[in-house]
Amino acid sequence: MEAKEPKKQFQVKVYRDWCKRCGICAAFCPKSVLVLDEKKFPHVLHPEACIGCRLCEIHCPDFAIEIRESSIKSQNCDGASEVQNVENFEERCVTRKSTLLQSQQG
Ligand code: SF4
Ligand code: SF4
Repeated sequence: MEAKEPKKQFQVKVYRDWCKRCGICAAFCPKSVLVLDEKKFPHVLHPEACIGCRLCEIHCPDFAIEIRESSIKSQNCDGASEVQNVENFEERCVTRKSTLLQSQQG
């Protein structure tokens, strides 16, 4: 059985200084991640639902919204402190653990 790919996570960053509050990003978002607040600025209501499609980013006329694939700290993986991309995280953890085990046994 193939190892299950870890779910990718994304950060949605809104640059309010550049945003003209047109609402296009929220209108295009297929997952209702974004809602407009009382001042019509986009608010990231459901960041966990973002699928990284970048429709918001592509359609924003003012480059005021950016999608980044999030990184997580590898503190859950043997206490190391460097930041690792979510992609391949589990695989890297397994590799590191097996290396540690080998060094302890050898
Ligand atoms: S990347 Fe896609 S899912 Fe995520 S906030 Fe933008 S439009 Fe919505
Ligand atoms: S599409 Fe761009 S300018 Fe329009 S509300 Fe969204 S972030 Fe602001």
